[in-house]
Amino acid sequence: MRIKFCPKCKSTEIEMSSGGLTGFWNCKKCGYNGTLFPEKEINEKKITK
Ligand SMILES: [Zn+2]
Repeated sequence: MRIKFCPKCKSTEIEMSSGGLTGFWNCKKCGYNGTLFPEKEINEKKITK
């Protein structure tokens, strides 16, 4: 499974903001936002929500 994370603070606490066709992502921790957030592979067992 892949999730996006903030390229600035590496936080995975991001949310998608609708707007345009692709939309963009907003980091809840540092406030960074953009359309190009990197993705990383994570193990499903490590997901905590
Ligand atoms: Zn961030």
